[in-house]
Amino acid sequence: MRLGDNPALRAAVECVREKGGRVLPLYIANDTESGAWADGAASRWWLHHALAALGEALQAKGSRLLIRSGASLDVLRALIDEADIGAVFWNRLYEPASIDRDRRIKAALREHGVHVESSNAGLLHEPWTIKTGSGGPYKVFTPFSRTLSAIPTPRPSPEPEVLPAAPEVGGMALNALRLMPSVDWAGGLKAAWAPGEAAAQELLDDFVDGPVRDYLQARDFPGRPATSRLSAALHFGEISPRQAWYAAEAAQADVAAPWLRQLQWREFAHHLLFHFPHTPEQPLDPRYADFTWRTDYQDDLRAWQRGRTGIPIIDAGMRELWHTGWMHNRVRMLVASLLTKNLLIPWQEGARWFWDTLVDADLANNTLGWQWTAGCGADAAPYFRVFNPVAQGLKFDPDGRYVRHWVPELKRLPDKWLQQPWAAPAEILRGGGITLGRDYPRPIVDLAGSRRIALEIWANEVRNKP
Ligand SMILES: Cc1cc2nc3c(=O)[nH]c(=O)nc-3n(C[C@H](O)[C@H](O)[C@H](O)COP(=O)(O)OP(=O)(O)OC[C@H]3O[C@@H](n4cnc5c(N)ncnc54)[C@H](O)[C@@H]3O)c2cc1C
Repeated sequence: MRLGDNPALRAAVECVREKGGRVLPLYIANDTESGAWADGAASRWWLHHALAALGEALQAKGSRLLIRSGASLDVLRALIDEADIGAVFWNRLYEPASIDRDRRIKAALREHGVHVESSNAGLLHEPWTIKTGSGGPYKVFTPFSRTLSAIPTPRPSPEPEVLPAAPEVGGMALNALRLMPSVDWAGGLKAAWAPGEAAAQELLDDFVDGPVRDYLQARDFPGRPATSRLSAALHFGEISPRQAWYAAEAAQADVAAPWLRQLQWREFAHHLLFHFPHTPEQPLDPRYADFTWRTDYQDDLRAWQRGRTGIPIIDAGMRELWHTGWMHNRVRMLVASLLTKNLLIPWQEGARWFWDTLVDADLANNTLGWQWTAGCGADAAPYFRVFNPVAQGLKFDPDGRYVRHWVPELKRLPDKWLQQPWAAPAEILRGGGITLGRDYPRPIVDLAGSRRIALEIWANEVRNKP
């Protein structure tokens, strides 16, 4: 979804420069080839705008974006015949279904006599090039990061200066893809985001000019604008991790390391997904395969999804997600911990909800985040880590800015009680205009009791297994 640091585009332009011909930038829409993980509603909204921005950027360079839909191989074969195409270039994707599809396409086109070339545009390094001493994949972040840090990060390539005009073949209008919701619920997304390469570049420039300096101290405070908010742009490829890496290093070499480490977590997530492709559905740690999750959880799941659990920082996070399609990382960990540990709801339910509602929904990062929090992933939080959302709220939202913004019905409560209204004396609640159960829910779960139960189950079912 970008022109800069786009190796497939550069290779196509180079090929035309050497051999003559034209370049036809193509997007194939297909909902079924991603298997169970077709884009969710928020991602579809983003994709619509990203495609619009890409189309404009190509037009500004004298080219255009052709959109077609259907089975990818059929679309490619038809175009190869229609426009007499001799070479196809793409940048790789790493979701298991995409890998299978692209392998099939590569083999079929080569058999057909077409030159096919795929490149890495989405990662610092390909997942199969980072290996443990014995040649296998990593399952622990720190040694993975050490190995990654020892290899120089390739430099991003500039955008081609000119693009050859595209051949005239018919395509579809972007609106015909129907990516936008039919009922307009996306006002909050529109207010929060500007998809597209130019906007992503601006976001990156602003971040490396200032906030990256305080990232280490401020990144855990959801009420402060301290993180880059580049996750959707990275997922959709509007910015490349190499561009992000070098921009941060160039601007703030002495203090950029903690943020660069987050880009390495992204690499680690893709490394795991590549080597353990069953993990979007199955726990990486086999001891969790038959874990006793609750089965009667629909009401609690719904309260969690809607931001009506009665636990303020959880509800703030879930409402932020619903309104903006994004949630702060610290709060993602808290809501995931509450769902999987206090409520004993399978992590896959949470991952699915995130998949549909996040603009940055990413199979690798989402799977890592959920399995890490639930305790069943690589290098996971240990089973006995059950975040206490009250203590976390007091620590990371000490002035209540975040909770008051997203849960405004509580805004008149003093800081001391804001994170735990159920514990507040009656006169404090009265003074804040709150009757629990009427203006704001009572908590759907007893935090201390449910923690004890979770620890017992974990100890019995997981800890003692080989
Ligand atoms: C339960 C759970 C689910 C998550 N689901 C997703 C998801 O679907 N998509 C997604 O991009 N991130 C996901 N994350 C990781 C993280 O929360 C987001 O990447 C981050 O909040 C995005 O904000 P930012 O761009 O401001 O991040 P910054 O703090 O500015 O970090 C820069 C970039 O590094 C990467 N990154 C940061 N933290 C992580 C991490 N823990 N794991 C992997 N990559 C990371 C992201 O690409 C991010 O944009 C999840 C985390 C949890 C706990």
